[in-house]
Amino acid sequence: MANSTSTTNQPTPMMAQYFTLKAEAQDCLLFYRMGDFFELFFDDAKMAAATLDIALTSRGEHAGQPIPMCGVPVHSAESYLARLIKGGHRVAIAEQTETPAEAKARGGKALVARAIVRYVTAGTLTEETLLDSRRDNMLVALAQTGGEGELGLAAADISTGRFETMTVRAGDLPAELARLRPSEVVIAEGSTLEVANSHPFDKAAFSSARAEDALKRLFAVATLDGFGQFSRAELAAMGGLIAYLDHAGKGTLPFLAPPLRKTSGAHVAIDAATRESLEIVATTGGTRAGSLLGAVDRTVTGAGARLLAQDLSAPLMDAPLIDARLGLVQLFHDDATLRSQLRAALRALPDIGRALGRVAIGRGSPRDLGQLRDGLGEARLLRERLGRLADQPLLLTQLLPALDGHGALVDALARALVPSPPTETNNGGYIADGFDPALDELRRLAGDGRRAIAALEAQYREQTGISALKIRHNGVLGYHVEVPARAADQLMQPESGFTHRQTLAGVVRFNSIDLHEQAGRVAQAGAHALVAEAAHLETLIEAVLDRKADIARAADALARLDVAAALAERAAEGGWQRPHFVVEDGVGPCLDIVGGRHPVVEDALRAQGQPFVANDCRLVATDRLWLVTGPNMGGKSTFLRQNALIVILAQAGAFVPAESATLTLVDRLFSRVGASDNLARGRSTFMVEMVETAAILAQATEHSFVILDEVGRGTSTYDGLALAWAVVEAVHEVNRCRCLFATHYHELTRLSETLDALSLHHVRAREWKGDLVLLHELAEGPADRSYGLAVARLAGLPPLVLKRAKDVLGRLEAGKAKTGGIAAGLDDLPLFASVATQVEEVVDPLRDALDGIDADALSPREALDHIYRLKQLAAASHHE
Ligand code: ATP
Repeated sequence: MANSTSTTNQPTPMMAQYFTLKAEAQDCLLFYRMGDFFELFFDDAKMAAATLDIALTSRGEHAGQPIPMCGVPVHSAESYLARLIKGGHRVAIAEQTETPAEAKARGGKALVARAIVRYVTAGTLTEETLLDSRRDNMLVALAQTGGEGELGLAAADISTGRFETMTVRAGDLPAELARLRPSEVVIAEGSTLEVANSHPFDKAAFSSARAEDALKRLFAVATLDGFGQFSRAELAAMGGLIAYLDHAGKGTLPFLAPPLRKTSGAHVAIDAATRESLEIVATTGGTRAGSLLGAVDRTVTGAGARLLAQDLSAPLMDAPLIDARLGLVQLFHDDATLRSQLRAALRALPDIGRALGRVAIGRGSPRDLGQLRDGLGEARLLRERLGRLADQPLLLTQLLPALDGHGALVDALARALVPSPPTETNNGGYIADGFDPALDELRRLAGDGRRAIAALEAQYREQTGISALKIRHNGVLGYHVEVPARAADQLMQPESGFTHRQTLAGVVRFNSIDLHEQAGRVAQAGAHALVAEAAHLETLIEAVLDRKADIARAADALARLDVAAALAERAAEGGWQRPHFVVEDGVGPCLDIVGGRHPVVEDALRAQGQPFVANDCRLVATDRLWLVTGPNMGGKSTFLRQNALIVILAQAGAFVPAESATLTLVDRLFSRVGASDNLARGRSTFMVEMVETAAILAQATEHSFVILDEVGRGTSTYDGLALAWAVVEAVHEVNRCRCLFATHYHELTRLSETLDALSLHHVRAREWKGDLVLLHELAEGPADRSYGLAVARLAGLPPLVLKRAKDVLGRLEAGKAKTGGIAAGLDDLPLFASVATQVEEVVDPLRDALDGIDADALSPREALDHIYRLKQLAAASHHE
């Protein structure tokens, strides 16, 4: 470091200051401001240099060792911060809190004072450039003070103020975290919770008593009763969350809406494994494209996209609420003109939720205020337009009032601000002309000064005869006269009226008394104007903050309109239909989907010009477990998943890709895929499969919907079959849930003889001229055979191996028929090596004929002849 080259172990003053700040920053990387750079030292430097791929150097020594160092320029710090945060780091920003001149004034060699002004962490971002506009950015705090096995969870997106809390059983925590997908999790120091992306924070903050005070202060209320009854664990979690935000913002708290208390029964319970397997908001590879959300999302605003992701992550359990959402979708579905007008208006809308978030945390810019003005202004117009509709659906009537009531604020912002205000305040110019006469006067003075300076330039040129003379401005010299070096002599004379300021290669710079005077007027008027603008900005920000809760409500209402219009758009595009929910009426749960399709697979097939085959699914109390068999690649997984996705869409309040869908509410949704499909996991895959299956058997109720895809295949055939058998029986007899079970174990079809609510289905396939044709069509009854070898042939397995497999299969089947044992027929199977030579001799006349053709030497006539001959050969080999 600059003055740290001492060889003793005594740190220099700057080092001492660094160590103090680093101790405060703890495990956050410390950005230590030095002039135009943020510098990092020691291990911080090593980590940052590796993550950012920038040079690691060293500066000075500490304890006899060079100090590793790297740095990033302040003006581009944001992009480096973004990469560090993405890389899983947290950063403490230490700024210079006084100027070098101020430090000097304090005495002799005083070091410039520095302090941590803010922490930048994944969960506390508000910068537009660091956030994904279409995704929530959740910070979660977990408190363990609940009853036995219960946790308090508080979650907030400080970029918009979304704030919720709930009590979760420890076992349900992974599911809730999978729903929220937090960027950062804080837990109390010393807590035994093991949660990904989490880090500890001051234990004392997670106290329900302190939390109550903090919440009352935050919302300026005397009692929290108005927000609902919170459990101690919930209060403790909210306390931890607020204290952490306070710490990260160094005392500036972001905007938080009043906390919404979520009860566990409000949403369909979907555990982490099911979310992953159904790829609801992200694929297993982590991308949005290819997920259900990706296939459904037609929103035109960031806020709409965020809300849609929330909706799909938490399908509702309340039929009237679902129906209210569907009613709004229906309105926009049926009226295409209204829909396209609304979407056009929304598309032009700024993200007022996030603008408000920035303003509330003290990082609001004039541009944010401009966005609020435009967004709220447009909201008012929308309200007028939508308010004129006859027969408003219930949800619309509830939303409309939130869009209004901002008139006075919008007018104030419109009068005060220029049409497109800048992000930066340094240069002013964001307050409109005519808003404040005093400001106008200051601007006039500054303008006069600038004009006088322009006039001086002309006057000096004439006076000196130097046509290349210019009056310029820069940050160091301010206004000055500049002439080419060759013409400078004349101005150097004492009687010239010019004072020399600077000589550079090629040009020489001067000052003059007149210029100095005018420049002073410009600077003074300019500075006063800046102060006046800043004061107006302050007032406008206060006016915004006075209405923050209402603005947040308007933002939410606009997002809801966007989601409904987008779902209507998607439905219209794909011929999707409104699902219907029925009450059980004593006949038990049902799930009746006619002509259902898988939205993601259908999209993928369409891109290749191929049709998707729609399939029905009819589960009722007396026929609630479907055993689906059929060839590999036949469409079993697709069928299972499409029905689960349709349930999610329906209960999220969306239209569904089906001709019709009639359901009773699903309370829990489970999806499990046989082990070998998800090798990406750490644990033994079969173990994972069984743990997850155990969870289903423990939790699925009569109202649940379960899809099981080739469960049991992760182990040996007999064990797998036995387990699959027992699982099917348990699901049928004990859980009694609606269930689709896909399997290759043909033997399972025998269960239909004993389990009366189980029926057999298969995906159809045909062999045609030796080729396998997959029809992707579901039919009743078991599959006639498994077609495994035919699929392998489609996949291009070498003929040698195919032939050998055929032999083995023949013997297996013969042996089984004789003795009943699967492997019995293998006893007299010749060794692979001994038949290999035989098979190798198999001639392929088609290939030989092809090899014999010299394509470049053919006439069109000859080519045609060859084609006829090849077709003949092909036909002959099929008949073999
Ligand atoms: P496996 O037993 O090997 O797991 P599977 O029977 O589960 O196979 P899927 O993975 O569902 O088969 O489907 C395989 C492919 O078949 C899909 O990727 C898709 O291209 C196509 N497919 C599936 N269902 C349909 C359908 N209903 N209409 C058209 N194509 C379909």
